[in-house]
Amino acid sequence: MSTKNTKLFFAAGETIMQQGDEGTSAYIIEEGRVEIVLERPDGRKVNVGTRGEGSIVGEMAIVDDSPRVASVIAVEDCKMLEITKEDFSKRLDSTDPIIQMISQVILTRYRDMLKRAKILGAEQQYPPPEALEKRISHHSDAVEAVRISNELGKALENDDLEVHYQPLIDLKSGEIKGAEALLRWTHDELGFISPGLFIPIAETTGQITDVTRWVLDKASHGLEKIKAAMGVNEDLYISINFSSYDFARTDFVEHLLKTIDECHLNTSEIVLEITERVLIQQPDQAKIVLEACHNRGIRIALDDFGTGYSSLSYLHYFPIDILKVDQSFVQNIEEDKRTFELVKSIIGLGKNMELEVIAEGVETEAQARKLIEAECDSVQGYFFAKPMAEADFISTLENWSSPLK
Ligand code: C2E
Ligand code: CA
Ligand code: CA
Repeated sequence: MSTKNTKLFFAAGETIMQQGDEGTSAYIIEEGRVEIVLERPDGRKVNVGTRGEGSIVGEMAIVDDSPRVASVIAVEDCKMLEITKEDFSKRLDSTDPIIQMISQVILTRYRDMLKRAKILGAEQQYPPPEALEKRISHHSDAVEAVRISNELGKALENDDLEVHYQPLIDLKSGEIKGAEALLRWTHDELGFISPGLFIPIAETTGQITDVTRWVLDKASHGLEKIKAAMGVNEDLYISINFSSYDFARTDFVEHLLKTIDECHLNTSEIVLEITERVLIQQPDQAKIVLEACHNRGIRIALDDFGTGYSSLSYLHYFPIDILKVDQSFVQNIEEDKRTFELVKSIIGLGKNMELEVIAEGVETEAQARKLIEAECDSVQGYFFAKPMAEADFISTLENWSSPLK
């Protein structure tokens, strides 16, 4: 995340912040020294300390909405770095919800402690700590995220998750050529929890790497069972979603190959699905990992293609084998001629680069026909089949006939 810190200069004797004022920034002292002066309720001014290079002042105001608790005055000429409340909030929002909550609670209690010690005035300009803590704990997103993350930890331990399989269909033959593994979680009390909700939480808490390993293990053993039930089908593959945090594990490739080997699969039977967001986060690391996989015959699919950070340079820089055209394009392919032209161009581009193109989210026959017209290779979507449990996937494979025929 970019930080726009403004460099500031204060001459000796200048007031950097005034007690009681609304605070919108904290400052890191880059050079110089400041003193902290507290005006007590009886009007007496007390020097409560000095701070030098590398210290931070004014931090309370950026964590909660209360006024400055003391004045800060430059003792020497000072160079400061500003951390705005807005910037801090953005950083806080993107951290683990437990860190968010604890940092706010610590501060609230600290203010309360100062008040009890009669250093701060007891006047009501500061929200009472109980009220503030209540407000924090009612900050439902954070609390919800903590709850989900705790429950997810238990679910992983107790194997309470499930992998579902959504068929990927070859448009020419109408046959199922593979499936995307999609995580399903039905909690005893909370009911169905969408991966769209808990996967981003697992990414902020770091649980995602355990989640991925769990899915990889289940889906690989799943494919082994599916193949055994069907008689060996050389071409059937499983496409698994990965996040950038997975690539940070030094044993990523080794573990992946070990799993493939344990399940008696070929490397061609596993596809790694990654989004552009994954590539942008750690591009060099991602490139090394993806190349190691690609060189061993594991294919790489670029998911949600056309959304977010789309840049054609990715296709050139990373060893991509498959493009998955995002469902937002497919949705509008019938009504909007420009969308249809765009999808056709993406498919053409894919073909020129010898990539396979899969269209996601195909919900109607009309959309499927448009995709055939655009010479799309494969499709995935409710019109053909929804994600389903392993046993249902096996019977779908056994009884498959394309709805297009
Ligand atoms: P995604 O990777 O883009 O997965 C495709 C999503 O589209 C799935 O949602 C799938 O159920 C849904 N879908 C498939 N066909 C249709 C259709 O015709 N119409 C519509 N409207 N939707 C369709 P799901 O299973 O809710 O997953 C949401 C997202 O959660 C996934 O998007 C993926 O980003 C993430 N996710 C799911 N499972 C995993 C996992 O095991 N690991 C990771 N890292 N992410 C996962
Ligand atoms: Ca996907
Ligand atoms: Ca997708």
